Amino acid sequence: MRTMPADAAGGVVFVDLGAIVANWRLLCARHPFGPVAGVVKGDGYGLGAGPVASALYAAGCRHFFVALLDEALAIRDLIPEAMLGVLGGLVPGSEAVYRAQDITPVLGSLAEIDAWRQVLTPPLLEGGGGRGRSPGTVPYDPSPQPPPSRGGGDALGAILHIDTGMARLGLDAGELAILQQDHARLAGIDLRYIMTHLVSAEAADDPLNRHQRERFAAACAGLPPAARSFANSSGIFLGEDFGSDLARPGAALYGINPTPGQPNPMRPVVRLMGRVLSVREIPAGASVGYNATWQAARPSRIATVGVGYADGWQRALSGRAQAFFDGAPVPLVGRVSMDLTTFDVTDHPAIVPGTWLELLGPNQTPDDVAAAAGTNGYEILTALALRLPRVYQAA
Ligand SMILES: *Cc1c(COP(=O)(O)O)cnc(C)c1O
Repeated sequence: MRTMPADAAGGVVFVDLGAIVANWRLLCARHPFGPVAGVVKGDGYGLGAGPVASALYAAGCRHFFVALLDEALAIRDLIPEAMLGVLGGLVPGSEAVYRAQDITPVLGSLAEIDAWRQVLTPPLLEGGGGRGRSPGTVPYDPSPQPPPSRGGGDALGAILHIDTGMARLGLDAGELAILQQDHARLAGIDLRYIMTHLVSAEAADDPLNRHQRERFAAACAGLPPAARSFANSSGIFLGEDFGSDLARPGAALYGINPTPGQPNPMRPVVRLMGRVLSVREIPAGASVGYNATWQAARPSRIATVGVGYADGWQRALSGRAQAFFDGAPVPLVGRVSMDLTTFDVTDHPAIVPGTWLELLGPNQTPDDVAAAAGTNGYEILTALALRLPRVYQAA
């Protein structure tokens, strides 16, 4: 999977697959209303969609979501019996690929619904897939054939996405009203779930949560009966009113706190270790790094670690984060550069070239680093560069 051996890298990302599985089980226990999917978009939130999906599948997870068709194709064979949904919807021209690979589109507009139904029309079935055909040339068939079944399931499965406040993807109010008046537009489609996505689930007091729940209930009431999918990670912790037939957590699986401001119920998953490339002594008054933003107040030892902002260790962390060595904090000094970060190790004589310092881990979580950088833990994880080898601890 990796060409660069970990022993030559400036930094290594350790991923505890057992912790991801434990987090999934905890979310299952918190969501007894229906199964809990694994969201593995963004390459498994930066940690590796393939190993994460395989570990969750081995633990019994049978529903997965990615953002893009290519992400689905990359893991389809690893999770053979599982539903695999593409949140980004149906890209025109790719319908035959979804169907051939048993990938479930999350339909977010009337145009996508119509395009998905048209997969059933005879010219596409007999014409070798019909890719590249413009959608307008496909005849409308009001009474489609029942889909041929693949693997025992209905082949034309889909998830219907309703926009209840995100204004991003999903049927808007106007399209929803049209569909509610005309269920025939869904004829032939096996509606596996109707779903919506919470805007502010991590802010438990935000009235938007309740408003979205009400809008979602009203939307579903006017549609053909179908199972529902509602909560993301934080939504699972909003209580039973936010339970549904399928929860869709991502972040919490990877150890990000779904209940900000309260203790993190999830197990830590990721550890980013940086290698000390050099240690030098500098006199009092000497500066470190670009623009000399830090000056030594005493004779100091400076350790340079082989991780920088090109690794996703953000420049915004300059002077605002630390590393950990044997559980003790080591201050980050000066600017973070592209490939290097400097630390004041004056008080840590055991740190020498070749020592590994913990940049992310139990002592300094992705949420902690996110707070220092002014972002969220999701961005910290997904920014971890591919040049950092991933090392997996088996589940
Ligand atoms: C990313 C995403 C999720 C998972 O959200 P988390 O906050 O990471 O749990 C669920 N549903 C949709 C539609 C998403 O885009």
